[in-house]
Amino acid sequence: MKKILVANRGEIALRVMRTIRDMGIKTVAVYSEADREAPHVRFADEAICLGPPPSNQSYLLGDKIIEEAKKIGVDGIHPGYGFLSENASFANAVEAAGITFIGPRSHAIEVMGSKLAAKEAVSNYNIPMVPGLDHAIVDIEEAKVFAQKIGFPILIKASAGGGGKGMRMVEKEEEFVEQMERAISEATSAFGDGSVFLEKYITSPRHIEIQVLADNHGNYLHLFERECSVQRRHQKVVEEAPSAILTPELRAKMGEDAVNVAKACDYTGAGTVEFLVDEDLNYYFLEMNTRLQVEHPVTEWITGIDLVEQQIKIARNEPLAIQQEDLEIKGHAVELRVYAEDPRNNFLPSVGELLKYKRPSGANIRLDDGYDEGMQIPIYYDPMISKLIAYGNNREAAIQHMLEAINQYEIEGVATTLAFGRYVFQHEAFTSGKFDTHFVKKYFTPEVLEADEKEGAAIAAELATKIFNDHAEHLQVPAVNGGGWQRKR
Ligand code: ADP
Repeated sequence: MKKILVANRGEIALRVMRTIRDMGIKTVAVYSEADREAPHVRFADEAICLGPPPSNQSYLLGDKIIEEAKKIGVDGIHPGYGFLSENASFANAVEAAGITFIGPRSHAIEVMGSKLAAKEAVSNYNIPMVPGLDHAIVDIEEAKVFAQKIGFPILIKASAGGGGKGMRMVEKEEEFVEQMERAISEATSAFGDGSVFLEKYITSPRHIEIQVLADNHGNYLHLFERECSVQRRHQKVVEEAPSAILTPELRAKMGEDAVNVAKACDYTGAGTVEFLVDEDLNYYFLEMNTRLQVEHPVTEWITGIDLVEQQIKIARNEPLAIQQEDLEIKGHAVELRVYAEDPRNNFLPSVGELLKYKRPSGANIRLDDGYDEGMQIPIYYDPMISKLIAYGNNREAAIQHMLEAINQYEIEGVATTLAFGRYVFQHEAFTSGKFDTHFVKKYFTPEVLEADEKEGAAIAAELATKIFNDHAEHLQVPAVNGGGWQRKR
């Protein structure tokens, strides 16, 4: 491959292009009119404007991207995450145009894109699943009988759901019929597919996922786990690798099962197999994401492997050069997704201009971002500004470096999840490793941020007093008519 187009924007476009350039390959960016000045556009060797800001008039125009790519001799397309990354027909169309799609084959995307088809595909591999129904159900009375069998609380899930959407928890039997009706109509309007199924609601789960790699020569690997239990709206906001709770035995077992999930759909490339883990360390297969994951940097840091480089090599038909036995976990990495969202207001997007943007830096910090000071955070896309990743020899050290980096990071103009992150990384439940997906619901209210700010103000005042006292002999308070501090001669 000589020229790769990255069909994405923001931090992920930039991150993917960095590896492409390091591999000596030319980069092509695409952009919407809202992103004309964006760093990913400036970084690329060539850039193509796709159209007006809304995604369906720009980043989702698969045919236009392919057409433009052909004109300038692109021989590979990397989809990043989101947008067209899990669109099987786009993957097919890219290949049909004689361009390599840097991702799995469309069959794997299709199977794993449907939660029900995924369950069906892995059913021969003896992989533990959340107790529930493995087929779509439309007859509400029939569904009720199943729900009673499984036991409440229960989760109604849209088969085509994603991004934390299309899920309804039902606590009591009395609410079941109404919630089913709503779930079906929501799934129909949001995903164009009203298929829903039932799962037992795991009351205190942790979200633990396994990174896998597979080549076109039948070799499969897993790169251990990431834990992503700190979520809001069923969406991740803090991640880490490794998890604080997995034993080497459990890690090996889940790794093996993840590889089997990949085998079940003839997977190739980098993918992620998601599991829920309950209080007794039982684990259950949730779904497979057939693309690079937002939180992939924590895995890169603890394994020393560049996942984008692996994706490209696999797409070039190279066999994996790594063996499972060669892989080991070194140290610990934590990630905070810095969103332009207001944690004081239900984590609602807070778009606007980045009036101030001062990055943290240091050997233990990696910052993947796609914005500069003075830029607008557009309303049209996911409001993530950056991913802040910190590394340490152990979990405590990684958390410490994360807190230092959060304190260094200065963003003004929009509300962000930075202070929320500081709260999480200092919280006893997180530092002790005893938390689940309900962290936000259990421990977070906007008031805790006020307390954090007051504490910050108190520390600042204390520091000012100390500095004053340390230098008191050089300073004197003017007696009268002084009009201010005077330096003693
Ligand atoms: P999506 O495809 O929308 O991301 P997932 O199936 O991956 O949906 O689930 C997202 C999150 O929802 C999980 O990380 C977990 O927090 C919660 N969740 C999903 N299934 C269950 C379940 N059966 N019991 C409890 N929580 C669940």
